[in-house]
Amino acid sequence: MPIDVVTIDGPAGAGKSSVARALAQRLGLEFLNTGATYRAVALKALRDKRDLEDEDALVEIARKMKLESIEGRTYLDGEDVTDAVRDPIVSRSVRYPANAPGVRALMVQWQRAVGLVKPIVTEGRDQGTAVFPDARCKFYLDASPEERAKRRVHELQLRGESPNFNDVLAQINERDKLDSERAVGPLCQPADAVRVNSDGKSIDDVVNEMEKIARQKLAIFS
Ligand code: C5P
Repeated sequence: MPIDVVTIDGPAGAGKSSVARALAQRLGLEFLNTGATYRAVALKALRDKRDLEDEDALVEIARKMKLESIEGRTYLDGEDVTDAVRDPIVSRSVRYPANAPGVRALMVQWQRAVGLVKPIVTEGRDQGTAVFPDARCKFYLDASPEERAKRRVHELQLRGESPNFNDVLAQINERDKLDSERAVGPLCQPADAVRVNSDGKSIDDVVNEMEKIARQKLAIFS
């Protein structure tokens, strides 16, 4: 019997991390945040003052660093970097490792290895397509660009910033374009994924909907 893997793919800002974390908890599986793996490569490159446009340097970093995912948190060389990888400077730099085929090959290998040893709910852009094509339960979590921009504006306001809605919307559209036009591991909906649209729904509503489907697909009835 293969180990359970639930994949959640979708665009930035659709709520994948919050939903995946909550769903993992409800199902008794571990949460794997794969965006954090690319972010960890970017963080290490920034800390080591390496050239982000030098793919060989990024591959060297990815090969040498020790990456771990423990109870949904990300560790880089033994340090918990779950919060550090969310820093805006890392967000601005992460597209370099995410677009580097050599880095992607290593991250995909690492992500599959995690899925081999423990049951997971994993979220990213390519989990149900490239990384775990045989997963029994796949979701594609979507939300309109306007809804995602609204949520992002709210998040920034809570941090005391005064963002402009149209600027945030333009950034979201730009990220969608980068994600879906990438040559390797582009964002696309797996043919066998259940599409869930989170427009106007709370995290709880979305998780309830997905939990029912996941329990049926994985035959977890407890
Ligand atoms: O989801 P998050 O914003 O943390 O993703 C960080 C970056 O990693 C994004 O640029 C995204 O495109 C990329 N990514 C990826 N493949 C994944 C997960 C994230 O290329 N499986």
